[in-house]
Amino acid sequence: MKRVTVYCASSAAAHPEFAAAAFELGGILARAGITTVYGGGAIGSMGRLADGALAAGGRVVGIMPRFMGDLEWGHPGLSEIVWTETMAARKELLFQDTDAIVTLPGGTGTLEELIEVLTLKRLGLFFKPVVLVNQRGFYDPLIQLLGNCVTEAFMSPRHLDMWRVVDHVDQVLDGLRACPPWDERSREFAVQRAPGTGS
Ligand code: AMP
Repeated sequence: MKRVTVYCASSAAAHPEFAAAAFELGGILARAGITTVYGGGAIGSMGRLADGALAAGGRVVGIMPRFMGDLEWGHPGLSEIVWTETMAARKELLFQDTDAIVTLPGGTGTLEELIEVLTLKRLGLFFKPVVLVNQRGFYDPLIQLLGNCVTEAFMSPRHLDMWRVVDHVDQVLDGLRACPPWDERSREFAVQRAPGTGS
């Protein structure tokens, strides 16, 4: 595993444990020789993630829309920054050239990025491991909702293998290794058919 993309919060107002965990995760990835890829921001969990990786001598790649750079939202110390024209292009680059996805707690930006990769995984367009860090039980309601998707047959129980949940960032590397392999055969069960009708 050479590159890991981390989705996390831009907020600097959340409980300090979230930013501290982001810093710790950056260090964990750096010490494992893994390049951290993220949205390039300087504040909140995003900024602390980069700080943690850089402090541990790691390489950090930020991918950021140009308008955010113009607003000086970019982290000034990154190893590399890739500018995109749109948010959509940024999101695509964040998951395209990476070996795994880790999602820390965050707001709508983080949630959108997570749900998009899970949707692509379901459709057989993305195969990499995905780990949610359920710090402070933040993701409990989402995990329950994803479970509802299965119990109400909007998704197959097999889709529960698209991600793994850990409670703390020190379990992230194990969580990534625990993700079951995934490939284009997931298309065979991407669609839920009506029972007995084949339609
Ligand atoms: P959220 O989880 O809602 O804080 O969203 C995080 C995502 O929001 C990032 O990946 C960015 O797409 C975007 N974002 C919002 N504010 C900022 C900021 N100040 N700097 C960098 N990215 C930001």
